[in-house]
Amino acid sequence: MFNLTEEQIMIRDMVRKIAKQKIEPRAAEIDETDEFPMDYVEVYKENRLFKMVLPEEYGGIDANTATLCIIVEELAKAYASAPQMLITTGAVLQVLLKAATEAQQKRLFKRLEQGTQTCSFALTEPNHGSDAGSLQTKAVLDGDHYIINGSKAFITTGEVAELHLVFVRTGAERTKGISVIMVDKNTPGFRVGKKEHKMGFAGTGTVELIFEDAKVHKENLIGEVNEGWSLLLNIANMMRAWGAACTALGNAQGALDYVVEYAKQRFQFGKPIAGFQAVQFMLADMAILIESARSLIYRIAYIMDTNTETFKNIESLVCMCKAHAADVGMKVTTDAVQIMGGYGYIKEYPIERRMRDAKSVQIYDGTNQIQRVVIARNMLMQPLFLKG
Ligand SMILES: Cc1cc2nc3c(=O)[nH]c(=O)nc-3n(C[C@H](O)[C@H](O)[C@H](O)COP(=O)(O)OP(=O)(O)OC[C@H]3O[C@@H](n4cnc5c(N)ncnc54)[C@H](O)[C@@H]3O)c2cc1C
Repeated sequence: MFNLTEEQIMIRDMVRKIAKQKIEPRAAEIDETDEFPMDYVEVYKENRLFKMVLPEEYGGIDANTATLCIIVEELAKAYASAPQMLITTGAVLQVLLKAATEAQQKRLFKRLEQGTQTCSFALTEPNHGSDAGSLQTKAVLDGDHYIINGSKAFITTGEVAELHLVFVRTGAERTKGISVIMVDKNTPGFRVGKKEHKMGFAGTGTVELIFEDAKVHKENLIGEVNEGWSLLLNIANMMRAWGAACTALGNAQGALDYVVEYAKQRFQFGKPIAGFQAVQFMLADMAILIESARSLIYRIAYIMDTNTETFKNIESLVCMCKAHAADVGMKVTTDAVQIMGGYGYIKEYPIERRMRDAKSVQIYDGTNQIQRVVIARNMLMQPLFLKG
């Protein structure tokens, strides 16, 4: 059903090389300092990865979902934080490709040539996380400008993003009163607020965004007014497959690769711990879980790229894929710590970091509980009948 094309193999090998040479060697340091990795920014710029979803006429590589999965998996194999700035930027660009006018695309893509070339995706608010449909950051039209007031919480890449895709309230009716506005970082009345100190996922620039009478030209409204929620459901949430799920997958694979080597080299009772069946079975179970997540991810990528299912079936599969991969990521990295014994718990080795990083994927992009809420709701409304 799914074979890599020659171009995808080329991209995978290119990203794998970058990951090995430029990403992985910096992971421990970034985990320690939590500094946003500007050296990663330069590497991604050089290799056109910020524009990976854009067509070639805009300088992109026109990546389909499967290619995005490959890129994110390879980077996360080296360091789970590494692809996050590409995921937020890619998701924003996908929304713009689908919903922005040609004039907006030209203007905003040109703007993105500057600075870090990154975007943030700003939905969550301090009091509205899972219930994002009740968000309260308000945009009121005043002549040719929207005046925005409110704040956004936990925004990945927000610390350095040039452009922020912001979900705002423009009407009274819950999800039918939400619009999407692009906010430039230099907008008067807008500022980046406090930076969060997190358990893991260091260097991903997670911040609050503050809007105090922020004045944004109405030309920056994306799509129709009050249609923001459908943009979220129809376009943006699909990034859970190539974004969150592939982050979890790559992180888990990186952990497994590491502990397989460790188990071969760590001797106890006169033999490598890999010789004990208890350890072998743990390794085998980790591999089974990883392959099940990978199969589901690439199956959904294929379906999305060939457009062969109904929206509800795709939505359910994306939620399954996100929840399953995130749970696999947590289980595999936790078991990886166990296989390393005391050394697994020590910061000198990369595995405890992978376990801390894995936790975030069960929470962000809609918690794993919310994924199950959507799957169950769709199933109860209409059973999942997949073609082929
Ligand atoms: C590292 C990280 C990066 C993030 N990046 C971004 C970003 O770039 N952009 C952005 O907009 N947001 C981002 N977020 C926010 C993230 O999407 C939210 O944290 C998440 O949606 C949960 O919202 P909450 O934290 O308010 O938890 P709450 O909604 O308060 O949930 C608390 C608990 O209640 C459970 N719960 C809530 N409602 C239900 C229900 N109906 N049924 C069952 N259980 C329920 C949840 O599953 C959870 O366990 C990020 C978060 C993290 C941790």
